Amino acid sequence: MAVRGTSAPVDAGSLFAEYPFLPGADALLGGEPVSVRSLLEEAAYERPRAIGRARVLAAADDPRALHDIDELNAAAADVRYLSFLFARLVLSAAPSPAALRRWAVAEAKRGYGRLARAPANELEEIARRLGFPGELDGGSVTLDVADYVRLASPIREAEFRLARQPVRAGRVTVPAVRAARLLQEAIRRSLASPLPLAEPVVALVREREAELFGDLARRMPAPVGRAGVAPGALLRDRFPPCIRKMQRTLEKGENLSHAGRFCLAAFLHRVGADAETIVDAYRGAPDFDESVTRYQVDHITSHHDGAGYEPASCDTLRSHGLCAREGDPTAPTPADRGRDELCFRPVLRHPLQYYRLRGGTTMELPGDGSGPVTSGAAPGTSDAPGRTPSTGRR
Ligand code: SF4
Repeated sequence: MAVRGTSAPVDAGSLFAEYPFLPGADALLGGEPVSVRSLLEEAAYERPRAIGRARVLAAADDPRALHDIDELNAAAADVRYLSFLFARLVLSAAPSPAALRRWAVAEAKRGYGRLARAPANELEEIARRLGFPGELDGGSVTLDVADYVRLASPIREAEFRLARQPVRAGRVTVPAVRAARLLQEAIRRSLASPLPLAEPVVALVREREAELFGDLARRMPAPVGRAGVAPGALLRDRFPPCIRKMQRTLEKGENLSHAGRFCLAAFLHRVGADAETIVDAYRGAPDFDESVTRYQVDHITSHHDGAGYEPASCDTLRSHGLCAREGDPTAPTPADRGRDELCFRPVLRHPLQYYRLRGGTTMELPGDGSGPVTSGAAPGTSDAPGRTPSTGRR
């Protein structure tokens, strides 16, 4: 970020302790690099490991919980940095990317907690070190429309929509406090990508931290079906492409529209997910609020004597831009990147029909679209009135 005018220098040591993801933060180690094996095994690094595990587990529970780790807040700058390195290393070797994405959201939120109150010179310094594209001039930041859209698109708050920004000559100007929120998104993106680790390193991390991975699996369990509907594990790999894409969007900590959030909760309820599983689906949302999410999930699932609201039909999802039958080029697996032929069968009109055709079980409700696909039963209503899980917005 280029800065017009003067700005006081920022102490690099305190900066790196608070923002350990910044390039150059390894200066906290005084020029003595720590090897992966040392960080994983040596007794001298037990404290950074313990705090690193606390970072990982707190993020798995609640993306806002990193603010409340007392040992982290009280630790010396180099220990904090090493605990960050340890957490990132371990999660890059995790069997599933979900925990890394959740942690990236949590670390970005922790960074934002300070950035939002930071003096202008600190904001400038962070932006410069992150290569944030824009110019800071007094209390505002100006950046290209394309850069703005890239950073703001996962942000759900209405005031970040491009239509609400003053655009001149292809440039957008936002107040500094909003630039802090854009920086949060830039941080989340950079941390959500795993470190490129060689196979022997992955194996070593998994062996050394098997207990932590076990704890993570208990805190982030595989979806479980409700007794009477779909006892046992839900068949997530047989969910339709639209639903899988909605889940990936939230896991990455990106924005999912109201229609998508509502449909996801209603779908998960109809395929038998319990309330915990449905709430968990929203934990990665940038604006996740546990109590609000629980309230809204309860509202959606208790409707109509527990039948819940009807998930949207394929036509409705297409009109909202949520159908993913053509494939998702950003998906991590080839199966999700390619076109799904089942979705192109004329008879397929509802995501629940898709799940049943792939062998899944859904709640049997007359006329709700969950009947056999061959019956031609029309899906019922689409988006029912209600609020969006995780934020409480309508
Ligand atoms: S065709 Fe229907 S089930 Fe398939 S991805 Fe689109 S909305 Fe989902």
